[in-house]
Formats: sequence, structure tokens, C-alpha cells
Amino acid sequence: MIKAKQKFQKPTRKLPIRLDGKVLTKENIVEPMRDIRRALLEADVSLPVVRRFVQSVSEQAVGVGLIRGVKPDQQLVKIVHDELVKLMGGEVSDLVFAKSGPTVILLAGLQGVGKTTVCAKLAFYLKKQGKSCMMVAGDVYRPAAIDQLVILGEQVDVPVYTAGTEVKPSEIARQGLAEAKKKNVDVVIMDTAGRLQIDKAMMDELKEVKRALNPTEVLLVVDAMTGQEAAAGNSFLSIFNPWSQHSTVEIGITGAILTKLDGDSRGGAALSVKEVSGKPIKLVGRGERMEDLEPFYPDRMAGRILG
Ligand code: GDP
Repeated sequence: MIKAKQKFQKPTRKLPIRLDGKVLTKENIVEPMRDIRRALLEADVSLPVVRRFVQSVSEQAVGVGLIRGVKPDQQLVKIVHDELVKLMGGEVSDLVFAKSGPTVILLAGLQGVGKTTVCAKLAFYLKKQGKSCMMVAGDVYRPAAIDQLVILGEQVDVPVYTAGTEVKPSEIARQGLAEAKKKNVDVVIMDTAGRLQIDKAMMDELKEVKRALNPTEVLLVVDAMTGQEAAAGNSFLSIFNPWSQHSTVEIGITGAILTKLDGDSRGGAALSVKEVSGKPIKLVGRGERMEDLEPFYPDRMAGRILG
């Protein structure tokens, strides 16, 4: 009888890599590392993230055996590519669903990043996977956002719970969730109000909504076009830094959605999000149409960032 352990052992096959006895040295990485640094900055990766990344990859690269027939700079690019993939989570990070009761997904993010659009896109995405969904309109400061969600809901044929603009978002959340439970809905997606800047009122409101919903996923919606400028300034990094007064650590995001990747941005924001927040990007938006939402593939993004 074959023992289970033996049965599932991986075949031991030697990798077809032939080292030619030489290693990457500090000298032969200086020049290509400079180009990589430039490529990362051009891709809108924020400066502190670039600095940390370049230093860490340089340290790792020195001493790595050179593969016969591969130029040192090509090999370095491969190391950088692999590191970028690793840094962005390695593999596709799936959405998490509740074991029982409705799965609640709370969306957060600054105004204009594409939150309301993502809300409907996500409902459509999950509907195609056979899940029944309900959206909850919690952006009470922008009445147009509620109308926009209702229209998008009709477009994707997903119900939208609305309670106007006079009710507190946490109360809307509570009511929406109760309604979803009554209707046995699989997934509830809540749109929340954004601000132009992160501020205390926004964070407090999010915390209240979170308490009301006890969500399975709290996804930060990030506009890929904001890139380095936003990442280097207060508005972006401050929401991730645990030492910041507006830290999302208190909110406890579980992941991010990167929108507007159909724009010219090379998507460096993807690297900043993961590096600074430690949370994976789960989905990306690639256009304004409802079907323009897909899983985030770190491998593809690494290629895009390196150009
Ligand atoms: P919110 O303020 O965060 O709710 O942002 P909206 O959902 O209202 O989106 C702001 C604008 O960005 C709208 O004009 C959307 O059509 C547009 N938008 C949203 N997602 C995408 C995307 O992935 N690609 C492009 N090109 N535009 C998008």
C-alpha cells in the first residue's frame, strides 16, 4: 500500500538553471537599480515606498548566482519583478464570505475615487457568481450619490436600500442589514460618504457604520490615478499609518479595490497600498461599465509597474 505521505510527494526535478559561478555584485546592480528606481517613480509609486523597496531588493540581489546566458541586469529585473509580486500579495486575494447570514461588505474611500460605481460593479460581479445582493446607499452628504446608486442598481438589477439624507449612516446601515436578512440576501454592499480629505468626522462615521454592520470585508476604494502625489501627501498615507490620527487601523480595513486602472497610470498606487497598509488589493476597476471589475493579479501589475 502506498502511504499517503509518499503518494503526494512532489516529484524532485532539478530546475534547469545553470549558474556560471559568478554572482551579482554591488557594482553591477548600481546602474540597473537606478533605472528600476526611475521606473517605479514614473509608475507613481510613492517615494518612501520606492526607497524601502530599492534598498531591500539591492540587499537581496547582491550575492545571487548569475544564470548562464542571462545578463546581470535582466536577472536583476526578474528579481525585482518577483519581489514586486511578493510585495503585492503574491497571488489573487479572494473576497471572504460569511459562514452564515449575509456577507457584509463595507466600502470606504475619498470622494470621487469611484466608490458608488464600485458598489454597483461589485454587486454585478457577485451576481454573476450566483449570489443575491443588496446595496445600501449611505452617502447622505451627496444626494446625487443615492440617485446614482439607484440608477446603477436598476442597470444591474440589484435592489438598493435607501433612507434619504436625513437619517444617520449608521442607522441606514442597521435598517439595510435588517432588510437584507429579511430577504435572505447573500451579500450586502454598503456605500459610504467620502470626503475630499480624510477627517475625523469621516473616520468616526465609518467606525459607527462598522459597529452597526459588523462587516466581513471593509474595502478601501483607491483611485489608481491619484498615484504618487496623493501617496506622498497627507491624504493617502495618513489613512494607513498606525501612528496617524486618522489611521484606518481603527477602521480595520481588510483589503482594497483599485479603480480607474483603464487610465494612463502605471498603477504604482497598487504597491503603495499593499506596502503601507499591509492589506491586499482584492479587485480592480478598469472602466465605467458595470462589467469592468476583475480580480487583482499581482503578477500583471508588477509587469505594468515596471513598464
Ligand atoms: P465616488 O464619489 O467615490 O462615489 O465616485 P463615483 O463612483 O461617483 O465615480 C466618480 C467618477 O469616476 C464617475 O464619473 C465614474 O464614472 C468614474 N469611474 C469610476 N470607476 C471608474 C473606472 O474604473 N474607470 C474610469 N475611467 N472611470 C471610473
